[in-house]
Amino acid sequence: MTTSARPEPTDEVVDLCRDLLRIDTTNTGDNDTSAGERRAAEYVAEKLAEVGVDAEIHESAPGRANLVARIAGTEPGRDALLVHGHLDVVPADPDEWSVHPFSGEVRDGYLWGRGAIDMKDFDAMVLAVVRDWQRTGVRPRRDVVLAFTADEEAGSDYGAHFLTQRHRDLFDGCTEAIGEVGGFSYSVDEQRRLYLIETAEKGIDWLRLHARGRPGHGSMVHDDNAVTALAEAVARIGRHRFPVVMTDTVRAFLAEVSDVLGIEIDPDDPETAIAKLGPIANIIGATIRNTANPTRLAAGYKDNVIPGRATATIDCRSLPGQSEELERQLRELVGPDIAIEYVQRQPALETTFDGDLVAQMSAALRAEDPGAHPVPYMLSGGTDAKAFSQLGIRCFGFAPLRLPADLNFSGLFHGIDERVPLDGLQFGVRVLDRFLRNC
Ligand SMILES: [Zn+2]
Repeated sequence: MTTSARPEPTDEVVDLCRDLLRIDTTNTGDNDTSAGERRAAEYVAEKLAEVGVDAEIHESAPGRANLVARIAGTEPGRDALLVHGHLDVVPADPDEWSVHPFSGEVRDGYLWGRGAIDMKDFDAMVLAVVRDWQRTGVRPRRDVVLAFTADEEAGSDYGAHFLTQRHRDLFDGCTEAIGEVGGFSYSVDEQRRLYLIETAEKGIDWLRLHARGRPGHGSMVHDDNAVTALAEAVARIGRHRFPVVMTDTVRAFLAEVSDVLGIEIDPDDPETAIAKLGPIANIIGATIRNTANPTRLAAGYKDNVIPGRATATIDCRSLPGQSEELERQLRELVGPDIAIEYVQRQPALETTFDGDLVAQMSAALRAEDPGAHPVPYMLSGGTDAKAFSQLGIRCFGFAPLRLPADLNFSGLFHGIDERVPLDGLQFGVRVLDRFLRNC
């Protein structure tokens, strides 16, 4: 039993995370049904106010709430650090889960719930650290700006993009940032763990293909059918494998992996080595080439009418500096008769794995896990970092989490039975505390 009235941040983080998981912040992409984001932002504001931190809530639309607070550093001349986490989650169907996705249940050493690793775990860690600092009089060396955002799961228009476009002044002085998806462990063996720190993100290149043809009767001979033309183009894209392009980030990742695992990696055939990485093979595998996956088709309105047009959506992801090259390759694949329209185009990000901030991340990880090997990596998806980097901020994915060797971590993102190990959450608080004190 403890005699101190002050809660330990490693205990409090579990309560904070559970409370957040119990607020259903499902992002449906529809403003009328996103009420949870407001409740979650108010919860965070209340937890900060309790310890004397003023926060402002900025709504981009009714209910679409973003919260920003600034903690003054002791060395005012230094650049500020942004710490950001989103409060929304993707939908979860209770019928598919072992526990109710919004019950915040603790079972088998895990805290379960939609958002447990994406990313209310990190939101709770940040709150636990800041609340402890406020209670004990700790102040960071540089200003730390906290941002809890809405709408990350539907493109961030009502969240991070809104904040950076309409409230840029909130981020004055911020030159570096940490957020999702990085800082998690991958076990090499009992003694050694890689910690993947995100230094790059692929670009988002969502496009629509438009085929046009001559409308007509389905019973006639017809050689100008929009559906046929579209289907051929979609099939060509879907079956195409884009060439391997090695970026600095992936090169640095593989060099470190080859060192730690003691395996030779053939630069002409990185895929053989990547395939040996088990649960993270699908994360890394998507970062050595551009990808293009057909996701939606639309055409026609009646069984016996040949429509004059047909459309398909392709989810493309481009490597840093590859967006134009990808577009050129796609145009070649679909041919001259199919029009390409971009519906979303957000550039890839890439920064170097060096400097004081990286040194502090690595030091904090090693202090809490002597077997830690921090490595840079590229995320194949996108995060709020896309928006914050528009302000010239150098963005890292660093939401530290020590994971059991057998956990399929990447499968939990947007997955069924999403859950976070309690000791991993507590490890994250200790690492984050060290890192933020020293950064
Ligand atoms: Zn996320």
